Amino acid sequence: MDILSGLPDATVIRDPGDLAPFMVDESHVRGVLPLAMVKPHGPRALRELVRRAKGEGFGLVPRGAGTGKAGGCVPTARTVVVDLSAWPGALRVSPQDLCLHAPASTPLREVKAAAEAHGLFYPPDPNSWESCALGGTLATNAGGPNACKYGMTRHWALAVDALLEDGEIHTFGISSVKANAGPALGQLLIGSEGIFGFILGATLRLTPRPREFTTLLLPVTRWESLLDLPGHLCGAGYLPSAFEFFDPAVLAELRAHGPEAARRLPGEALAILEFDERGCGSEAFLEGLLDLLGPLAEHLEVASDERQRQNIWAVRRMTSVFLKERHPHKVSEDIVVPRSRLREFFEGLDRLACPLVTYGHLGDGNLHVNLLAAGETEPAQLEAQLMALFRLALSLGGALSGEHGIGLAKREAFLALGDPAQLRALRAIKQALDPQNIFNPGKVI
Ligand SMILES: Cc1cc2nc3c(=O)[nH]c(=O)nc-3n(C[C@H](O)[C@H](O)[C@H](O)COP(=O)(O)OP(=O)(O)OC[C@H]3O[C@@H](n4cnc5c(N)ncnc54)[C@H](O)[C@@H]3O)c2cc1C
Repeated sequence: MDILSGLPDATVIRDPGDLAPFMVDESHVRGVLPLAMVKPHGPRALRELVRRAKGEGFGLVPRGAGTGKAGGCVPTARTVVVDLSAWPGALRVSPQDLCLHAPASTPLREVKAAAEAHGLFYPPDPNSWESCALGGTLATNAGGPNACKYGMTRHWALAVDALLEDGEIHTFGISSVKANAGPALGQLLIGSEGIFGFILGATLRLTPRPREFTTLLLPVTRWESLLDLPGHLCGAGYLPSAFEFFDPAVLAELRAHGPEAARRLPGEALAILEFDERGCGSEAFLEGLLDLLGPLAEHLEVASDERQRQNIWAVRRMTSVFLKERHPHKVSEDIVVPRSRLREFFEGLDRLACPLVTYGHLGDGNLHVNLLAAGETEPAQLEAQLMALFRLALSLGGALSGEHGIGLAKREAFLALGDPAQLRALRAIKQALDPQNIFNPGKVI
């Protein structure tokens, strides 16, 4: 019998041709053909789906917008993809409580726009913010440029509505920053990449919207001179709301093949620095900053209006897509090291003598390390290069991933290099919450 026949309140797709797009996300990994794709329209569908998954022994792979970069939403063997893009519910802003509630299907851009319409701000801003879904950002604990000042998605989630293996929806947390009645179980779901259950909605913390920005293009002639700057700025009491960079190779690619705005980018390497605190547009602020930057500021450009600011950000935001179009078989990693260890990290990278390029979130030590020639590299050699990269990040007190998560792409490295006690704890939690391993099997742990 068809395991999904008569499933209530859902759209079901079984045609292999229609299922093919669900085998991939924005990472380099490819899943297998799923048994089906189900788009639930309400709780009845999910309740029944969980019951059948447990009874028939198939897995459920939650999917948001499929922009993930770790292969988290691609199907493994004998699984059904659960596309949550039609999950119902309304977005409600509560300015008095400085929060909003939204269903997981809400595009992140709508979450940010709703906050802004009330003069408020929801900071998490993965560079995919115009295309990803709120549920995906919660499940991956997404970061983005603003994370260096505002932290990650988990720092903005007050409560999470989640469907667990009993087939019911439970809310963890309340609409207040103060909640201390026991460990924060909702936080366990954030960043869990769908292995504990489905996130169906969340209450998110908001803050008053910044009204002033200073956005700087900081071209440098010796790119290593940027490496101590994140630590320097923080040590001197300057906390940028974003500090992004392109290494010489990425900048050269952008200049040679990128859109018109990228062709004019100056420098051997380039940083984008943004501040958003009150007074950051004043001359006094800029003078203090210039003093601190010293000779580094020689070619500094300041965005003079919002249009220029948006142009700068447009180039940064298209970089990932641009590189993927130019190098479709590249492997992109997103290691992180403490910002004070960036120089040691790049010295270590030089010693690895591996062909790679870097760009990304220099301000918080989260670097997108791209192996552009991965498609032409022997699998064993590629694996050795990636393991060496991960070991380097770990040796400096960093981690395998700063924001994209583990998914399928980094699972083997995570299991090989992870702390045994932490892996044991994670397995025990998975066993307690999902004893039949129906939620996103084969991912993370
Ligand atoms: C151009 C580009 C730029 C990016 N920039 C950034 C960046 O700056 N920072 C960053 O952190 N990420 C970035 N990403 C990665 C990605 O966009 C984010 O991880 C995003 O949060 C994923 O959202 P999604 O809706 O597409 O999730 P998906 O890709 O659909 O899923 C991601 C993971 O979450 C799980 N999942 C999805 N929805 C749910 C749910 N409702 N309940 C439970 N589990 C669920 C999936 O099973 C999978 O494991 C970028 C991606 C692209 C393509």
